[in-house]
Amino acid sequence: MTKMTHAEQFHHRAAPIEMEPEHFRALGHQLTDQIAAFLTTLPERAIVPARQPAVGEEGFDLASELPTEGTDAADLLERATRLLFDFGVFQHHPRWASWITGAASPIGTLAEYLAAAVNQGVAAADGVAGNIEAQTIRWIAELIGYPTDCGGLFLSGGNLANITAFHAARTAQADWDIRADGLMAGNRQLYAYGSRFMHSWIEKAADMSGIGTKAIRWIDTDAQFRIDPDALRTRMQEDIVQGGQPFIVIGTAGTTEIGAIDPLHELAAIAREFGCWFHVDAAYGGVAAILPDAPDDLKGLSLADSIVVDPHKWLYAPKGAGCVLVREPRRLFDAFAFRPPYFHGMSTEQFNYFEMGPETTRGFRALKVWLALQQVGRDGYAQMVAEDMRLSRALHDLAVAHPELQAMTQNLSIATFRYIPLTLVGHANESVGEYLNVLNAAIMKAVNASGEAVISNAIIDGVFALRTCIVNFRTSLSDVEAIIDLAVRCGREQDSTMRPQELRDAR
Ligand SMILES: *Cc1c(COP(=O)(O)O)cnc(C)c1O
Repeated sequence: MTKMTHAEQFHHRAAPIEMEPEHFRALGHQLTDQIAAFLTTLPERAIVPARQPAVGEEGFDLASELPTEGTDAADLLERATRLLFDFGVFQHHPRWASWITGAASPIGTLAEYLAAAVNQGVAAADGVAGNIEAQTIRWIAELIGYPTDCGGLFLSGGNLANITAFHAARTAQADWDIRADGLMAGNRQLYAYGSRFMHSWIEKAADMSGIGTKAIRWIDTDAQFRIDPDALRTRMQEDIVQGGQPFIVIGTAGTTEIGAIDPLHELAAIAREFGCWFHVDAAYGGVAAILPDAPDDLKGLSLADSIVVDPHKWLYAPKGAGCVLVREPRRLFDAFAFRPPYFHGMSTEQFNYFEMGPETTRGFRALKVWLALQQVGRDGYAQMVAEDMRLSRALHDLAVAHPELQAMTQNLSIATFRYIPLTLVGHANESVGEYLNVLNAAIMKAVNASGEAVISNAIIDGVFALRTCIVNFRTSLSDVEAIIDLAVRCGREQDSTMRPQELRDAR
């Protein structure tokens, strides 16, 4: 055997990560079969695993060192599949009713595979992937009644999408060169306004932007947990008198906790009156605007300078996908564009995605949404969203009808309620109130530990409520009934062991 020179070897490179096409095909088929079986059996599986994997089980050993040499890919996939199917937490299970995490559409799941295979980087606006992203943004605008000549892009989720909009607002509202000279050059404090139920992205945005979290004005709400426009106006006026500059008014369309929708028309008018940017965080609730009988307030979405919708919530896209839509596309460009010398070949005819947001190398997140929108169309989404809301109302009605449950709120697809033992119904005093809070916290824990359903909580005027949110096309009425039954069962069990002596004789 003659020895090959280095140059000769490099004509036939044997990269250890490469896979023979036949091997790839076989593993791909096998994985697809396993995933299809997993999805079929999902409703029977525990939503949260009853135990954690033992050390070394299915190759899961967090203390193991980085391997020096490689392992067979088939073995690895086999073990990873079992590890995740047996020990995963399934937020797309029909009885996952906790945080707002939508079920992953099958076509979106396949799209993720396809997107990875073609490995499109979507930094540029042109090319098939860039154009598909632009069309998807336009379709989402059309779906929810936002002007279709808007600009926008996909980000990892609602946090980053909202932070991107916030940054665009900051740049647009500063009448000095804030990008070059910084925040301090303005010689005045910028203020952001929204209801006290805003999502915590606002704190990250205020911190990251340098305006500081004290510049967030958390405005009081009315009895329906919607921002109070008079309180907002008063606060803005006070800040101006003190020499500050209100720069953004934020409406939330579907608060994370209870799904309340701020009065968007009034907020838009106030923002205009004060010369502020009007942003709507519709990460959760925006998609409900497709319904013919959508709440009137949601129609105010169309008045916003920017809005955020999370496709990985109510468009059922696999995680992650958030998107920001901006009325004037240039605003994103003005806030994010830098042209590095190494991007000489990039088109300058359109705004490229790397110039409209914080990311440069970007995955093809739009594909899973683009395909799902075509698979079911507007009507398909309208049907699924309406059904999710109907199920939430059904859950609310079951709570209303149950003598041991107190229904609390129902908005969009979020219903809240709490358990009250029969002998304590109508006993409204401080110690009963405190006990019910502790009891319901324990009920939530017990429900979630059962593996049969997962719920979360809301704190409503100091009252601990059990919270259910349905953004899942696989959830049905029997799941909703099961959640109610489970809450009552856990309520009785917890009450029988937890109730303090002094509350035991209540009649
Ligand atoms: C979920 C949510 C967010 C955050 O979105 P992520 O996708 O989790 O980053 C922001 N605002 C509201 C109103 C939400 O419901």
